[in-house]
Parts: sequence; structure tokens; C-alpha cells
Amino acid sequence: MKLLPKCNEVEARLTEYTEGTLSFGDRFGMRLHLLLCHPCAALLRGVRLLPSLGKHLLSPTATAPPEALKALETVRQRIK
Ligand SMILES: [Zn+2]
Repeated sequence: MKLLPKCNEVEARLTEYTEGTLSFGDRFGMRLHLLLCHPCAALLRGVRLLPSLGKHLLSPTATAPPEALKALETVRQRIK
């Protein structure tokens, strides 16, 4: 990757960037690009929100009404 990566390169490596698995040079280029490019910076914010969004989507059963839980259980049994 060059010193200043292009948008498609940044998009392709955003997950690695947020996980901190990029080399120092790649991370520096990404950071520089994200400072200059608003669309990519917005994309980064979206990627960072994903884990909490996932948790939110997986936990509605705790507050779901009993009939919904019963229906869900019926569906689960039919899938098996
Ligand atoms: Zn960009």
C-alpha cells in the first residue's frame, strides 16, 4: 500500500484497521486518508458501530413478550 491509499483500499482494510492488525506504515496511511476523506471517515464510524449493533440485535429475547418467545421456540424446533 502506498503512503496515501485510495478510497477502495481504505474500504477493503477498514476491519483490519479497527482490529489493529495493520503494519505501522499501513495504519499511518489509513489514518492520513481518514483525516482527509469524509466519506471514508463516515464509513469507519459505521464499522465501529457494528459490534454494538450486533449485540443489540441478538438480545431482544430478554425483553420480548412471552408469546413471541413461544413462537420463536416453535420455529427453532421445526428447524431441527
Ligand atoms: Zn476515502
